[in-house]
Amino acid sequence: MICTEPACAKLNLALDILGKRPDGYHEMRMVMQSIDLADHVTVSTCPGKEIVVTTDLPYLPKGDGNIAAKAALWFFSSVGMEPEGLAIDIQKNVPVCAGMAGGSSDGAAVLRVLRRLYMPDMTEEQLEEIGALVGSDVPYCVRGGTVLAEGRGERLTDLPPLPPCWLVVCKPSCSVSTPELFAQVRLKKLRCHPDTAGMMNALERQDLEGIARRLYNVFEDVLPRRYAEVFVIKNELLELGAMAASMTGSGPTVFGIFQDQETAAQAAGALSKQYAAYLCRPCGAAGI
Ligand code: ATP
Repeated sequence: MICTEPACAKLNLALDILGKRPDGYHEMRMVMQSIDLADHVTVSTCPGKEIVVTTDLPYLPKGDGNIAAKAALWFFSSVGMEPEGLAIDIQKNVPVCAGMAGGSSDGAAVLRVLRRLYMPDMTEEQLEEIGALVGSDVPYCVRGGTVLAEGRGERLTDLPPLPPCWLVVCKPSCSVSTPELFAQVRLKKLRCHPDTAGMMNALERQDLEGIARRLYNVFEDVLPRRYAEVFVIKNELLELGAMAASMTGSGPTVFGIFQDQETAAQAAGALSKQYAAYLCRPCGAAGI
């Protein structure tokens, strides 16, 4: 049996850190958005019990270290099955270590395929619970679309979809370490927070300007100076006609919202001379 599943990247329209929890994790409040930039995950069943992962990026882990394999192992143990032999092949299109949840999305795609193959009656909530065992962003990636994610990322509330628009996503060559960035956060010193409630109202009203005005990521405020390129790209996106621009997740990827396709395509073209740049559209659950 062979199944292929898209694994969409996500952007953060808003990212807030509310506090530190007794378990050491941070209490987050994020507005997440799937985009049509996606990896392609192919799962084939094989004889034996081994789970092998191959990707077109040789430096990514092939065995249990790959989030796709971890997701498969958590799926089998959560449903009380012995692991089945699987060959998982991932065509990576989503940049790695980019704040776009590429790995989490691969894991979520594997969970969706395994539910289809072995547990078709399993609910979305049950699959998201398994996702939470794999990683903080995985429950959201199982669901996809426009979603408020709270807690570690496991408490999900569907939001109205982002109104039609174009997104230019730009990844500088540097990589930001997520743990390092969390370590920089001094909660009492975070003076600004996103207007998440206002963003949710703007989504309700399908008011793209109101949404764009409220793009905000608190991680930008604690970015060490060596990542100044993030702000250079934000400014370039604004000069190239973006309504607003923000970093996604723990960066360093930056995205801009555009109302019209032509301006967005020109901006992506201009940025691609220097960076990896993508012209994208928002999408709903599981890439639809
Ligand atoms: P997030 O937005 O959730 O913080 P990210 O976009 O910053 O994630 P990823 O690309 O999802 O980062 O993951 C990066 C790390 O995970 C790398 O260290 C990489 O080696 C490891 N990894 C394991 N499996 C995968 C995978 N399938 N795809 C990408 N990275 C993977």
